[in-house]
Amino acid sequence: MLRPYRVDLHIHTCLSPCADIDMTPKRILSRAQERDLQIIAVTDHNSVENFPAFLDLADGITVLPGMEINTAEEVHVLALFPTYEQALQAQKVVYDDLPVQKNSRMTFEQMVVNAQGQLVHFQDRHLIDPIKKDLKETVELIHYHGGLAIASHIDRDLYGIIGTLGRIPEDVAFDALEISYQTPPEEAKKLFNIYRHLPWLWSSDAHQISQIGRSSTAMLLKEPSFEEITRALKGENGRKIVLD
Ligand SMILES: [Zn+2]
Ligand SMILES: [Zn+2]
Repeated sequence: MLRPYRVDLHIHTCLSPCADIDMTPKRILSRAQERDLQIIAVTDHNSVENFPAFLDLADGITVLPGMEINTAEEVHVLALFPTYEQALQAQKVVYDDLPVQKNSRMTFEQMVVNAQGQLVHFQDRHLIDPIKKDLKETVELIHYHGGLAIASHIDRDLYGIIGTLGRIPEDVAFDALEISYQTPPEEAKKLFNIYRHLPWLWSSDAHQISQIGRSSTAMLLKEPSFEEITRALKGENGRKIVLD
């Protein structure tokens, strides 16, 4: 039996230097529950280190491990993975391009926390920096580790693929495109009609608690899982995105 699920696949935590420090796992989950979200993804800049704290807490909400990778062109790409282990393998490659810079100001704004929201350690890499891999290589890296590659906020000039490159290159194999809360579906259809061959998602890109679920996507799935989301993006066996 298929049923609709409310999905927000782009949420930052206190590990992202640009996110509020109260973006802790407990507060994010409680807000997600209030907003009736059944599936969320934790997508910090270039890192998946705050994901384990969610696993200790998630009750009734499916949480997927992810990253928002900043490519060499300074284009943001969401990477979602079936397992934390696969995400860690991809993170290892990403971290190779981000040197440790101890005690820089940014370090103190990048907190790895436990399920109680207590600081475990500061992350010493500048997580918002671009990695050395270009867009195509980044998408290949994500796929190599079993993940889904989604072009982030394609309607945003800064770090959005169209704003940065002018178009979505045909040789980059995205699984979906993400549109921000600022562009509702009717407007998106006018603006991005030439990219209708790819599935579209809306997510919150929340950096503050109040932003969680400000935009989300309804999906028809059998159960709340990475595999079912993959099927919905492909439109397999009745699984699909329901635009609302
Ligand atoms: Zn972004
Ligand atoms: Zn983001």
